[in-house]
Parts: sequence; structure tokens; C-alpha cells
Amino acid sequence: MTAATPARPYRGRFAPSPTGPLHFGSLVAAVGSYLDALAHAGEWLVRMEDVDTPRNVPGADADIVRTLEAFGFEWEGEVLYQSKRGEAYAAALDQLTAAGLAYGCACSRKEIADSATRPAIDGGLAYPGTCRHGLPAGRSARAWRLRVDDQSLAFEDRLQGTVSQCLESDVGDFVLRRADGLWAYQLAVTVDDEFQQISDVVRGADLLASTPRQIHLQRCLGYRTPRYAHLPVAANAAGEKLSKQTLARALDGSRAAAELVSALRFLGQQVPQTLVAARVADVWDWARAHWDFAAIPRRRAIILPV
Ligand code: GLU
Repeated sequence: MTAATPARPYRGRFAPSPTGPLHFGSLVAAVGSYLDALAHAGEWLVRMEDVDTPRNVPGADADIVRTLEAFGFEWEGEVLYQSKRGEAYAAALDQLTAAGLAYGCACSRKEIADSATRPAIDGGLAYPGTCRHGLPAGRSARAWRLRVDDQSLAFEDRLQGTVSQCLESDVGDFVLRRADGLWAYQLAVTVDDEFQQISDVVRGADLLASTPRQIHLQRCLGYRTPRYAHLPVAANAAGEKLSKQTLARALDGSRAAAELVSALRFLGQQVPQTLVAARVADVWDWARAHWDFAAIPRRRAIILPV
């Protein structure tokens, strides 16, 4: 009989990418993860996911922090910047390579497009495994990939129920370090969730399809798997997730209480109308006292009325 691993104390996080100002979709993720942490008397951390440097917008990180402050969020410690964590990601990649789990890949995008036969679960093509057994003669590694297997990987999401994926057919061996030398999101987020001792990941359901990759990485690196809750994401009438790419409106700090009320309602909370014109602190007082995780719609997306 193996002894059960004691649960970690609750630690949640909000992990925005500084590619522009926070919008309503990001507020929903921040509110959901923050209130779940408060409901568990846990800690809540903020991490700036700025590894994809070409997508960073100068000043967006400071703007995000100011917006979180204006909206009354309180987090534990300093904001962790992924751009300062290169050594930790390199150590994780070394560990995986030494264990024979990660390998160098010489394939160009075009070569993958010419040889791949299956679409990947979140767009693009599943990597066909060309360099899995070694680099072709005369070629050198451009990117680093993690080996996956063809078994089903399932986890229980607190909101979305059982989610399962076969990494080999749905994704293929995936990138840890990109051909341009940048660290891939999947590696950075996995290493940092462990580093920050995150017990509970509460984030948008647009990341549901990434979670099996992160769990596989955790297992390869000997990490624990946090609990996951994927919140419905706000979508526009065309069914697209509200994002900086779909030009979602930036949050308006001068209407913070009303914006918070909208985010709480989006998450199924029955907020009294009087709070729309209240102070931010009053909205948080109400939310702390009335937060009902069970009322969150168990859906992956909700279309916002225009
Ligand atoms: N940085 C990601 C985003 O802004 C979130 C990653 C996560 O929560 O795991 O969409």
C-alpha cells in the first residue's frame, strides 16, 4: 500500500501574458482564481507569463499590475516574471534530455507540414515523430521536444468533469524549446506551477486542451499534479474567445465595481444590482461572503451579449 501524498496547502495563481491590457476575459479568470483561493483560506500569486518575448507589449506588465491593484486584488509576494526564469527551464530541459525523454528536432515547419498526417487538437498538425529516434545525418537540432505516448491521459476537472486525451494522436511530441531559442509555454508554466507550489489552477477553458501536456510534463519531471478548474471563457457572437487578438475592450479602472459585478455574474453569482454602483471594497466584501463555486456554469464558453 502506498501512503497518500498529503495535499498541498491551497495556493492559486493568475498568470497573464503581457501582450496588452487586461480585458473582461482576463478579469473572469482573475476573479475565479482569486475567490477560489480566498474560499480555501489559501494564497494567491501573480505570474507574468512573458516568455514569448516577440508578443510582449512594452509597459503591458506594469499596466496589468496597476489594473489588478485598481480592481482590489491582493496577492502574495512579488510578481514572478518568466523572463527571469531561463535557468530553471534549462535545468528542467536538461533533466528531461538526460532521462531520454526530450530530444533535439531538426524539422522545419515546412517539413512537418509535408510529413504530418493528423491535425493537432488545438490547431496546427500533430508532430509525426520524425526526429524521435535521432537526428537525420548532417542535421542539427533546432527545437527540443518531449516524447509522448499513445495512452489515454485523463484527469478530473472540478468544472468540466473528466477530460481525456491521447497525446500521441492529439498533439504528438511537443515543443519545450522553440527553434528561435524561446521557451515554450507548456514547459514554463509546468516548471513555474511547481516552483510556486501551486495546488490549484483555476483558469479559462481555452487552456483545457493544454492540461494533459502539462500533466505529462509533471510526471516526467517528478512533480505533483495540481487540481484544475477550467472556467467558461467569454466569447463573442462568432464564438471566438475574447482576447487581445479579437480586440476585446480593455478593462475600465474607473468602472471597476461594475466590471467586477459583470465578471461575478458571468461566473453564475447572484450579485445584487445595488453593487454595480458600490465601492470596489463592497463588491469584494459581498463576493467573499457569497462566493458559490457550485454556481459557476459548467461550460467551456459563454457568448456575451453585445
Ligand atoms: N498566460 C496564459 C494566458 O494569458 C495563461 C496560462 C495559465 O493560466 O496557465 O492565457
